[in-house]
Amino acid sequence: MVDHFWIARVIERVLERMPRVKLSVIEDVVAADGEARRLFIRWCEEGGCSVRVDQMGNIFARRAGRDPKLPSVMTGSHLDTQPTGGKFDGAYGVMAGLELVRTLNDLGYETEAPIEVVAWTNEEGSRFSPAMVGSGAFAGVFDLAEALGRPDNVTGITLGAELERIGFAGPEPVGGRPVAAYFEAHIEQGPILEAAGKPIGVVTGAQGQRWYEITVVGQEAHAGPTPMTRRRDALVGAARMIDAVNRIGHDNAPYACATVGFAQVFPNSRNTIPGRVFFTVDFRHPEDATLTAMDGALRAECQRIADQIGLQVEVKEFWYFPPTPFDKDCIAAVRGAVERAGYAHMDIISGAGHDAVYMARVAPTAMVFVPCENGISHNEVENARPEDLAAGCDVLLQAIVARANAAPAR
Ligand SMILES: [Zn+2]
Repeated sequence: MVDHFWIARVIERVLERMPRVKLSVIEDVVAADGEARRLFIRWCEEGGCSVRVDQMGNIFARRAGRDPKLPSVMTGSHLDTQPTGGKFDGAYGVMAGLELVRTLNDLGYETEAPIEVVAWTNEEGSRFSPAMVGSGAFAGVFDLAEALGRPDNVTGITLGAELERIGFAGPEPVGGRPVAAYFEAHIEQGPILEAAGKPIGVVTGAQGQRWYEITVVGQEAHAGPTPMTRRRDALVGAARMIDAVNRIGHDNAPYACATVGFAQVFPNSRNTIPGRVFFTVDFRHPEDATLTAMDGALRAECQRIADQIGLQVEVKEFWYFPPTPFDKDCIAAVRGAVERAGYAHMDIISGAGHDAVYMARVAPTAMVFVPCENGISHNEVENARPEDLAAGCDVLLQAIVARANAAPAR
């Protein structure tokens, strides 16, 4: 079995070699995206991997196994980021995969099945929505032409055209091939592991999400001559509904999340009573039954508040993403690796979406989380401790080697 002597090296390599794209000007972003991809490919080739790029621009670096007929065990994440993103979200998982390949090379260790390190295109969905589009296309969630046709939300340039421009509209077909298992290492992007003092989170699944668009309609009227008793103020209604959203989150503690992050007021004038308000709701919970209960509570509360003030309300579900439990055997492989290595750990549910969530639809999947400083992510101050990152790499390595040497389930 591979041992842990390589940890010190991981600290040097993973931290110092992480490329990071600064989203300032779109031109820079496109160039930096291409640059980061080429750098990743060069390192993979230096590590003896054969590299392929598919039509979605997903990059797969393959380290051969003893049996070339076996489907590979895959690991990786994404290299893209948010406008104010840090250097660990995504890049850590890609670099962890590369580092485990280098480690196996140094040890002269051959696995039974091949190992593939993947860098997925456009996980963040920041410039081209939706998110996780590269892994989603691989998993058959998105149609290829539709995914490539997604426009940039400012310039309208398509994802496909930009991939073409940086030379990453690859020749390989997207997906449609067996993957023995998928493991993804990622920073937690929340405060739980740090608060618990545990360097490893064994991720048992990702929570479900329900997104809504809510429109509240009242009546515009003059702010001066209209008595309080005669008003149908859409913003007052929306404010109470937003408070209800927050209460529904607290009522379903500790796992529920309930957020209103976007609101528009019409006509948005200081001396006119608002006649219409549009706002969004983002509900998350690891259990579908609770999400359904939250859905019921939201609709009931919105209607109750609207009736109270004489408003009309439309609650439209915009997106539903069911909770994704990860694969029992893959979770066990991660847990076994943590226990053998002796790291403090806990089970955890992913609050964010990840490429692993779509991969879980086509391959047995699990994730490894490491803490990040103050739980902050999607922010340039994002930080993680070298020893935690190394522990995550270590666990990833052990879990993948165990899986790649396991008798294939056929
Ligand atoms: Zn990420």
